[in-house]
Amino acid sequence: MDFEFTEEQKMLQTTIRDFLEKEIAPIVDERDRQGSFTREEVIGYIKKMMPLGFYHLPEELGGEERMDAITGAIGSEELARVWPSLSGALGLAGLAVAALAMARGETKEKLRAKIEKGESIGCLAITEPNVGSDTSAIETMLTKSGDRYVVNGTKTWITNGSIADVAIALVQTEKGKGQMGMATVLLDRDVSPWEATDFHKIGWRACPTSEMSFDDCPVPEQNIIVAPWMLGGSGEGGGGDKAAQAYFDFMQRLNGIRAGMWLISIGIAQAAVDASIKYAKERIQFGKPLGSFQMVQEMIADMLTDTWSARLLTYRAIWLGGQGVKNRMETSLAKGFATEAALRVTSKAIQIHGAMGLSEEYPVERYFRDARMLTMPDGTTQIMKLIVGREVLGMRAYT
Ligand SMILES: Cc1cc2nc3c(=O)[nH]c(=O)nc-3n(C[C@H](O)[C@H](O)[C@H](O)COP(=O)(O)OP(=O)(O)OC[C@H]3O[C@@H](n4cnc5c(N)ncnc54)[C@H](O)[C@@H]3O)c2cc1C
Repeated sequence: MDFEFTEEQKMLQTTIRDFLEKEIAPIVDERDRQGSFTREEVIGYIKKMMPLGFYHLPEELGGEERMDAITGAIGSEELARVWPSLSGALGLAGLAVAALAMARGETKEKLRAKIEKGESIGCLAITEPNVGSDTSAIETMLTKSGDRYVVNGTKTWITNGSIADVAIALVQTEKGKGQMGMATVLLDRDVSPWEATDFHKIGWRACPTSEMSFDDCPVPEQNIIVAPWMLGGSGEGGGGDKAAQAYFDFMQRLNGIRAGMWLISIGIAQAAVDASIKYAKERIQFGKPLGSFQMVQEMIADMLTDTWSARLLTYRAIWLGGQGVKNRMETSLAKGFATEAALRVTSKAIQIHGAMGLSEEYPVERYFRDARMLTMPDGTTQIMKLIVGREVLGMRAYT
């Protein structure tokens, strides 16, 4: 067992940290308050950060040698320490790469050309006004209308929905059939356009969170990526083994992107710890620095325990995934723990800063607001616990 990063990983960490401190950190507080990123801003960041390993096009899709999962995670944690909103937007933009893995025909070639230039932003559209944790209840419909397929419905809380070039959406094909009546479609915005509006939220203020409307949105048959009839390899749509392979590739990539949420939690928690240690050394009360009081030291020790526990669970889950080992329980433990830990840590950071922690003078109020976002997406804390329960007990608390 080796808890050290390799020399190459440490060098990459230093390079990324230097870049972020110089190029990004100075603008974060002000820009984050101004609301959602535009598409051009995110494309600009992608282009700047591609050489550092972000938005990576892997070898098997025509890019450079694949970066191992731990090395990729290091960069994500560093970015989250500086700007969680940008972590969210860039992480989900990478779904364009997942879409490329699923795409076929001319969509694939077009997408590859855009991704190579860092010019395609992705999003994943599952949640709907009536559908949150229970994804088997999807209402957005994919229907055949004459000789073409169309999507109708509304998706909500979609990260990057307003600025995305490509969406991977979960749709229903047949009512009352649960997951057997669903399909995944790839929506290229030029061909399958949608409307989107962003909403204001407590944290992740610069990261776009959108409601997407689909009104007879056309979908070429080749962009219906996986449907139960396809997995069967017969009937309408066709595709058989290829569609099944595309689906499994996609699910693997999705797991990689999911890890982003735990890494954002650790990055935020570490930033809150660093800010609290600095403040506890500087602020004088009763003639002494705050850090000299035992109860302040206890808060800092608790914050570090949470941050390191989250980090160890997270890197272990990522490492297992990188080894090709089944890690459903470990990923759920990591997601459930790391996101709640970030909330506890950032709340204590505010407490250490006293009233000033609640003001915009210090970044800890932003850390707290950003941490508050993380216990919902990619499965809530409660759903993560139910998955752990299912894995260890072999009993499902929900269907
Ligand atoms: C920052 C952010 C980004 C997001 N990005 C995306 C995105 O890119 N794409 C996308 O599709 N969605 C996205 N979402 C939506 C997210 O996936 C949903 O919020 C999540 O699935 C939970 O659904 P819900 O909010 O409707 O809560 P609900 O499912 O209505 O749950 C409400 C509460 O009830 C609890 N609950 C529900 N069912 C059970 C149960 N069986 N047992 C115990 N407790 C239960 C939940 O844990 C929660 O506390 C995002 C959300 C946020 C906050």
